[in-house]
Amino acid sequence: MTIPLWLHDQTPVQGTPLAPDARHDVVIIGAGITGLSTAVMLAEAGVDVAVIDADAIGQGTTAAAAGMASVLQGTTLAALRAHHPARLVRAYVDANRAGLDWLAERAGTAAERRTAFTFGRGTDADTALDAVRDVAREAGLPVRVDTPADLGGHTPARAVALDDQIVVDPALVAWALSGMATAAGAALHTGVRVTDVHTLPNGRVDTDHGTVFADTVVLATGTPITRRGLYDLKTRALRSWAIAFEREGDATGPGGMWSEVGAHGRSVVATPVSFGRDALIVTGARHPVGSARSELALAEELAAWARRTLPVGAEIARWSGQDYQSHNLVPFVGGMPRGLGRVRFATGYAGWGLTNGPAAAMRLTDEIRGVSRGDRPQWMQTIGTRLTVPADIGRGIGDAARRVGVAAACAAGASPAPVKRPAEGAGVIARRGLRTTAVSTVDGRTRAIVARTPLTWNDAERSWDSPVDGSRYAPDGVRLEGAASTDLGVRTGVA
Ligand SMILES: Cc1cc2nc3c(=O)[nH]c(=O)nc-3n(C[C@H](O)[C@H](O)[C@H](O)COP(=O)(O)OP(=O)(O)OC[C@H]3O[C@@H](n4cnc5c(N)ncnc54)[C@H](O)[C@@H]3O)c2cc1C
Repeated sequence: MTIPLWLHDQTPVQGTPLAPDARHDVVIIGAGITGLSTAVMLAEAGVDVAVIDADAIGQGTTAAAAGMASVLQGTTLAALRAHHPARLVRAYVDANRAGLDWLAERAGTAAERRTAFTFGRGTDADTALDAVRDVAREAGLPVRVDTPADLGGHTPARAVALDDQIVVDPALVAWALSGMATAAGAALHTGVRVTDVHTLPNGRVDTDHGTVFADTVVLATGTPITRRGLYDLKTRALRSWAIAFEREGDATGPGGMWSEVGAHGRSVVATPVSFGRDALIVTGARHPVGSARSELALAEELAAWARRTLPVGAEIARWSGQDYQSHNLVPFVGGMPRGLGRVRFATGYAGWGLTNGPAAAMRLTDEIRGVSRGDRPQWMQTIGTRLTVPADIGRGIGDAARRVGVAAACAAGASPAPVKRPAEGAGVIARRGLRTTAVSTVDGRTRAIVARTPLTWNDAERSWDSPVDGSRYAPDGVRLEGAASTDLGVRTGVA
């Protein structure tokens, strides 16, 4: 498993043991930026809250983040505007500005003010950058156009810039928020995995450490772990890579935080001073989960780009993570369909959860506390009543077709059983009739698991990844992340 820079040499922050049969007003599943922000807001408003996480505090996608809390967000605003009215883009901007302000206030001196840049090179990038500039201005952001000199590369860069955004150490922020939540009376339970959520007769959360009860359950699990609303099919699970480098020699640039126009979704940012170690983090190689021929090769391409373009020295950390993009490009936040108002969730930040997460927490908090619609900020009212437009449906259909395609490709790529023991670090899908088995060898151990969903081998994380719902599993079938809530079964013997 790859480990984010922020977690190197850190002792994970743990919660208290879960008391089975406990009752709370609200149980939040997930101690990432969404769950922790919601816990702080609710607990400080006097609500009885418990947070449950399968792992330690903030170790999910939140720790994978590069730390850029920005309203500019690369080309996100232009993509939104291509399909939605200006008032919705404005509401999205206002939501993220509210999220950023809240985060900055909570992070205190650990938040470092920086200029955010969306940049590109060459004439191909000009149209995309013009769209970013125009949409940002239309949404009320005071952006300017810049020709930054400190971004290296052979072709000059052109950029749209927005001042006064922030960079944080996301793990440090998560730990700080967990402290604020507990100080306000919230209970925090880590190492407790939720296996199911029920709504009748009341909210009930089953875990591997017993059952707890709640009036409201919040799924802050990245993507919802119940399939009630089929959100795994209404979002795309996208994986990306991040690599941290020392700076080369006495290089000082680039300052700011940078997101490149284009399909790779590359970004560059230097660690904040509060982290205590200067490094340049590049992220990119974004792709649907389970679609890469080789994750190792994708990471290597990103590293090569950084070495070609930036003043980087030795590599100090390399990690990957995944986030979810909704088909209408606006995060899904609110009541879960068929959840009887007792199950709420947030997902679909498309790589910008450090601002979207706190904004989602504000919406969830107002909804749970019963704040009337008219008393909520305008952005909440607008974003809460958005319409699905034909392009969203088209995107959904396109993605469904992609999933069918990858499922067929997985089936076609399976080897007839029995298969040879895979080499160390490799995995192979074996098929006999309708029986499909995923076989891998890791650390000298060959294991076979029931592939009840199409799976591809992730040669970097050494995991089985589902290109259909974005779930990931360890070689022994244990669920690592994604929409699945259960493990895959083990088969005895190699297929
Ligand atoms: C490489 C990379 C770089 C990124 N960089 C940035 C950036 O610079 N700026 C930015 O704004 N965003 C960035 N993002 C996106 C951002 O990290 C996410 O949007 C955000 O962290 C999502 O937060 P979350 O709280 O929804 O999910 P998570 O942080 O994943 O939290 C979900 C939690 O739920 C827990 N959980 C899941 N299932 C269960 C279960 N069954 N039982 C109990 N607990 C469970 C998990 O253990 C986890 O702790 C980046 C993402 C990646 C992958």
